Amino acid sequence: MTAPRVRFAPSPTGSLHVGGARTALYNWLFARRGGGTFILRIEDTDVERSRRELTDQILHAMRWLGLDWDEGPFFQSERGALYHEAADRLLAEGKAYRAFETPDELDAMKKSAAASGSAFRYDGRARAISKEESDRRAASGEKFVVRLNVPDEPLVVDDAVQGRTEFPAGALDDFVLVRSDGHPLYHFTVCVDDVAMGITHVIRGADHLPNAPKHVALFRALGAPLPVFAHLGMILGTDGKKLSKRHGAAGVEEFEAEGYLPAALDNFLALLGWSPGEDRERMTLAEMVSLFSLERIGPSPSRFDHEKLAWLNGQYLQEVPAARLIEMLKPFRVPDFDPELLARAIALHRSRARTLVDLAHALAIYGDDPMDFDAAGMKKFGKPDAAPLVRTLAERLSAAEPFTHAALEEAARALAAEKGLKLGDLAQPARLGLTGVLASPPLFELIEVLGKETTRRRLLAFADLLARVPAAH
Ligand code: GLU
Repeated sequence: MTAPRVRFAPSPTGSLHVGGARTALYNWLFARRGGGTFILRIEDTDVERSRRELTDQILHAMRWLGLDWDEGPFFQSERGALYHEAADRLLAEGKAYRAFETPDELDAMKKSAAASGSAFRYDGRARAISKEESDRRAASGEKFVVRLNVPDEPLVVDDAVQGRTEFPAGALDDFVLVRSDGHPLYHFTVCVDDVAMGITHVIRGADHLPNAPKHVALFRALGAPLPVFAHLGMILGTDGKKLSKRHGAAGVEEFEAEGYLPAALDNFLALLGWSPGEDRERMTLAEMVSLFSLERIGPSPSRFDHEKLAWLNGQYLQEVPAARLIEMLKPFRVPDFDPELLARAIALHRSRARTLVDLAHALAIYGDDPMDFDAAGMKKFGKPDAAPLVRTLAERLSAAEPFTHAALEEAARALAAEKGLKLGDLAQPARLGLTGVLASPPLFELIEVLGKETTRRRLLAFADLLARVPAAH
């Protein structure tokens, strides 16, 4: 087999969502697996809806996912000449023709179709206009659209994923390639570009499957061999409905902002339709490249399970080397403290985090001293008579030698025993005073990382606060 040439062809009318990202990933994997070429083509001929910022956002998302392209980005908006040449050639060869119906005439045809209860199909009447007459009317400035002269024969879409579908002769009408204002239309530009770029495999979402017969007809008219089509099952929410905002994040940039790792998202997206076999789940991009094939893509829709993605991301998070994790946390505003301390804090908190946002949030306790205290915790432990106990604990902990979690725990246990209390009776208010909340990693490990000075300062301030509780009511 010659090396494949594939393309990802997003329309910059929205940001890159998970469906598009999966299409990009599969094309990329397929190109890399076959030593081929991955082309990026921006389909921005819809001038009103296409936006340059969205293109930039799509390129950023692809780079973030690690999907580098070999050619492009090509912008369809800059390729008008190519589409017009192709239209002229099809006209010259009689594979397309000009149709001069006015909007009013077309409306009348649509109305009469609706009245007889059928969908509008252009009946091909302008096929009868001779070449000479057509050229003359065009030259005299009469408005026309260019329509494909769809041959009266069956069309077969032989899809590598969805299987073979045969469309009987007459299934398509002579659809428009170029509008009367000269604007080339979507199906036409896609196929002209696919031919010009030597695309061998068209891998895209199954929402494009209904377009495939038109594309087959166009490839034939353009005299080009058909690419292999592979239409990927749609991505649905866990409830089986079309994926939407209701289901949570769906844009790649949202996952980035929520602290997901590109490697985890790539891994997760790869498994939405493709299965490497042998129950393999965790894979690097390089491993996916070595295993990828169209044969192992299933035709059915897949479900996007946010819970599973978060779990997988958590797994990935545990393996990132500490120095790299510190880098990755930078955009998430982690308090600025000693790098060695930060590394220790990360080691302590990462196993509870599923995203970088979770982790950054947990690390906030190493920044400023807490000002707000969990309300339920205050209700339970916020009594003035707890103040002396917290103060004594502050003294005992700062006296622990060495300042290690084992020695700290021993000091706290000794104090609890002295007062006839359980360790939890001390630990819970201490946790609240030190972090503002009642959930944290093992307390004495946390205290070891917080350090003697901070621990003492926070506990004494908390004791003062407790002593003032009634005054506050
Ligand atoms: N521009 C189309 C889209 O964003 C893709 C067309 C294609 O892959 O053929 O859905």
